[in-house]
Amino acid sequence: MSTLWLVATPIGNLGDLSPRAVDVLSHAALVCCEDTRRTGLLLQHAGIRAERLAVCNDHTEMSRIADVLRTLGDGRDVAIVSDAGTPGISDPGERIVRSVIDAGHTVSAVPGPSAVIMAITISGLSADRFVYEGFLPRKGAERASRLAEIAAEHRTTVLYEAPHRVLRTLDDLRETCGDDRIAVVTRELTKLHEEVVRGPLGEIDIGAPRGEYVLVIEGAPVDDRPMSDDDVRAELRRELDAGASTRDASATVAKAVGRPKREVYALAIALDRQTGTMVERDE
Ligand code: SAM
Repeated sequence: MSTLWLVATPIGNLGDLSPRAVDVLSHAALVCCEDTRRTGLLLQHAGIRAERLAVCNDHTEMSRIADVLRTLGDGRDVAIVSDAGTPGISDPGERIVRSVIDAGHTVSAVPGPSAVIMAITISGLSADRFVYEGFLPRKGAERASRLAEIAAEHRTTVLYEAPHRVLRTLDDLRETCGDDRIAVVTRELTKLHEEVVRGPLGEIDIGAPRGEYVLVIEGAPVDDRPMSDDDVRAELRRELDAGASTRDASATVAKAVGRPKREVYALAIALDRQTGTMVERDE
């Protein structure tokens, strides 16, 4: 069965090219890459003579699909690599993968380096649940709304950033997320000048930007204090005014505030007694 392989390549340290990546790249009939010169150097370093190298970047990915499908149709394997890291992660690959799946061929991967995974795992922030945001939109309403989403996000957020934009992005994050939110700024991962700077957004100082960056931002704090009885009463009043029965209002509010149904029901009954309104509408 011919297979499309997504092959991860080093994000800086050539020692991270896996033996399995070398094997797949050596045997593929076609290796699609963003830049033949750059991938050519990697292959040369690993002692691989690729059968055929072809460009597949953001502009040419669609036009490469027919070639890939033809090669797979001939029963031969195809590999996709990007300039660095895992193809398809803020890199070309996704559209070819979809077309190959639609055509009924097998898609697999040689997993390996990816800056997002390295950054989150060394950040010290929670990796139980995290959001990968890639590169932020550069300006305008789209950027503002993405920043607002990150400010409200309870999960850890990971962002890619270019050196000439990293200071502005940290400023924008400070403005939307506040001074106290912890940021971990990672730079030049796996390379000679690898660096990790951690601190609250209000204090973090990364010096003069240089190299490639991944930013990891702590999630917004979760307010897990139980809601006060007054707040629960206000929620109940809103539901009852909207026409809900006491039982339905209690069930809705109990679920929303995470308190036992019988407690909320008792508050609803007492509310009725206080206000003298008829709350048992349809029971
Ligand atoms: N596909 C790649 C991956 O799996 O990580 C990402 C490619 S994306 C076009 C390039 C961005 O990834 C850079 O601008 C930077 O934000 C991040 N990146 C890649 N290599 C990195 C490294 N060694 N250190 C820090 N960030 C890196």
